[in-house]
Amino acid sequence: MARVELKQVSKSFGSTDVIRDVSLSIEEGEFAVFVGPSGCGKSTLLRMIAGLEETSGGEIFIGGDDVTDAEPADRGVAMVFQSYALYPHMTVADNMSFGLRMAHRPKEEIASKVGRAAKILQLEDYLQRKPAQLSGGQRQRVAIGRAIVRDPKVFLFDEPLSNLDAELRVQMRVELAKLHRVLGNTMIYVTHDQTEALTMADRIVVLRSGRIEQIGTPQDLYQDPDNAFVAGFIGSPR
Ligand code: ADP
Ligand code: MG
Repeated sequence: MARVELKQVSKSFGSTDVIRDVSLSIEEGEFAVFVGPSGCGKSTLLRMIAGLEETSGGEIFIGGDDVTDAEPADRGVAMVFQSYALYPHMTVADNMSFGLRMAHRPKEEIASKVGRAAKILQLEDYLQRKPAQLSGGQRQRVAIGRAIVRDPKVFLFDEPLSNLDAELRVQMRVELAKLHRVLGNTMIYVTHDQTEALTMADRIVVLRSGRIEQIGTPQDLYQDPDNAFVAGFIGSPR
């Protein structure tokens, strides 16, 4: 668990400012959702927290440490993407343990971490299957399992459910909420889906054109939007 703080973070690609002066603090154990229309900078912001993208300005702190220039592996974060490219030739267990094996972790540690993740994600009966023998939801759970085995302080999710059908999305939302209760980690979840944001978030960060429009609980944003954009996006009349 760790607090995530962004201080005046900005990002430009060439002459295009994609993230503009974003400051915010996500508390330990909080489930924060970044929401906003396509292209507003959600993924870029998340990738900067993960260390997959350099900042153009500002500072990022995780658990009190300045990680602005730290390598991704040294930040204590694990990211789950929308396209959960699993290795097709590897079993579920091997997919989940890949990172730990590359890091030469002891066999017993790997087995216990994979076992624990499989239990949390109800994948215990599927550990020896290959990805092609799994449903879409099970595959996405394997991708989440890959993150869990790394014991991250912070989970970062980039639209992890957007490739799933509507029914499965609803089911996975419930599972992710449960995962958050079980693990208690800080989680940052990116989506362009208002319903996901409203149902999953402790606090929602509404982004527009690389800036924060409003931060608040789902109830705050729904009942007391700061402006017409937030009202329109979150869906309450004004
Ligand atoms: P979102 O995830 O909210 O849809 P992104 O963070 O992916 O938005 O993108 C924000 C903006 O930055 C978009 O206009 C996108 O085209 C631009 N962008 C993202 N990555 C790059 C890149 N590597 N090079 C140039 N522009 C980029
Ligand atoms: Mg994105």
